[in-house]
Amino acid sequence: MAFKIAEKIKRLLFPPVCPLCEEILPYGKTRICASCRPKATYLTEPLCLRCGKEIADEEKEYCTDCEKKPKSFVRGFPAMSYREPIRRSILKFKYQNKSSYADCFATEIIRAHGRDIKDVAPEVLIPVPVHKRKLEKRGYNQAEVLANSLGAYLDIPVDAGIIRRVVNTTPQKSLNDEERQKNLEKAFISDKKQVQYKKVMLVDDIYTTGATIEACTKILKNAGVKEVYYTSICIGGK
Ligand SMILES: [Zn+2]
Ligand SMILES: [Zn+2]
Repeated sequence: MAFKIAEKIKRLLFPPVCPLCEEILPYGKTRICASCRPKATYLTEPLCLRCGKEIADEEKEYCTDCEKKPKSFVRGFPAMSYREPIRRSILKFKYQNKSSYADCFATEIIRAHGRDIKDVAPEVLIPVPVHKRKLEKRGYNQAEVLANSLGAYLDIPVDAGIIRRVVNTTPQKSLNDEERQKNLEKAFISDKKQVQYKKVMLVDDIYTTGATIEACTKILKNAGVKEVYYTSICIGGK
């Protein structure tokens, strides 16, 4: 693992902690600590061949959600299920300045899907953006912090400058499923009409309905990307 000097200094100043119990991890270790690991909500096969969610029926290839709503991305690689105690940990990672959890979450993604991601060999990792105002309030975009960590481990560059999140004034509540998806798509824009990448991987903290990843996928495909994958710490639902 070839870390840049800045990355090494960051690790000395903010040593990785277990995202569940917050103990500082032994030097060189960046996984959920051994005593918390049994509580971690790792996914078990069979997994949906599209979104990566656990599915109950072994005969099936896709989860009911992906069956009902076909997706534009090729495949997703989430590491855990969005349940306690991971749920609370992710909320801290997002809203309570716990960006130091990123190394651990990145390592968990690699433990679950490192080989898949290497096989895909995306040219670049693209974090799902947050709106500028949210970024100012929180100080960081958790998806970008995670992507940087993943990129450092996997030696894949990160490009956070392609998609931008803009204000969207239509409230989602008043809309049906299809309208919601269309509405959400208006919340992301690309400043570039054409990008040079052909195969990319989106990075986010949680995949819930998939609407965000779907919206970002469409933006990227419109800009000329051929294959879009995603990875996330967690996926919601069963
Ligand atoms: Zn722990
Ligand atoms: Zn699925």
